[in-house]
Amino acid sequence: MPFKANALAFSLLLTLWTAPAAAETTFGDVAVATAGPPRVIGGHARGCLAGGEALPLDGAGYQLMRPSRNRFWGHPQLIAFVTQFAEKAHADGWPGLLIGDLAQPRGGPMSSGHRSHQTGLDVDIWFLAAPPQPLSESQREDSSALSMVSEGGLTVSPAWTEEHVRLLRTAASFPQVDRIFVNPVIKRELCHTVGQDRAWLAKLRPWWGHDAHFHVGLHCPSQDSECLERVPPVPDGDGCDASLDWWFSAEAREELRKGAGAPRPRPTLDELPSACREVLTGG
Ligand SMILES: [Zn+2]
Repeated sequence: MPFKANALAFSLLLTLWTAPAAAETTFGDVAVATAGPPRVIGGHARGCLAGGEALPLDGAGYQLMRPSRNRFWGHPQLIAFVTQFAEKAHADGWPGLLIGDLAQPRGGPMSSGHRSHQTGLDVDIWFLAAPPQPLSESQREDSSALSMVSEGGLTVSPAWTEEHVRLLRTAASFPQVDRIFVNPVIKRELCHTVGQDRAWLAKLRPWWGHDAHFHVGLHCPSQDSECLERVPPVPDGDGCDASLDWWFSAEAREELRKGAGAPRPRPTLDELPSACREVLTGG
């Protein structure tokens, strides 16, 4: 008997050793938003979203890309922005928007891609216009975006048009838009080609990548006291100055070589505002 008992104890121990630790649920695991009123908690790179709303796959003037990612959720004000912007752009002659990622159903850090997009106030929009016909499921998943920057990385590509300028100006005209990230080459092109009416250029911020899509970030909804605005605030002026020149400097090239713009570590659940734990596990 002692041998049998020992064998049993040994196999139990082995089970304990080899059983994987229960993996913590992440924001990417949750398929739907929480019910209840919308609530933005924290900031775009360290936060979450309660009461999120899904953007319908299609709407007037837009089609949603990569629906399988389930990143088409946002604060109702973001959903309203996307639909209003799509309608306005379409009325101005843009064929249709291709909408990339918004946020996960409850916001929070993503397992891949963006570091921001955590509070349901950010959306990526492709520079490539939508075709007139509805895209198939596989086209939505597999079509490639189109870069607006030439191969040398110093000028815009032949795909860049006056219509793109108008599209960005329309996006910037919404007062709820805090800033719009574009590739430095695109910002410089705007600086050189936009005439007298250029106050809107302030919202156009140069950033790594963003050559095939632009990223629109909204201000905090005014009633959300837990929402943190982006810092620093967008400076006055059109931004066509030394701060833009930096992006074309040897220092910037060196930063890029060292991995600037590559995905950075994402905050863990413990690093998020504590209310985000309730959002993650709540009904
Ligand atoms: Zn983005």
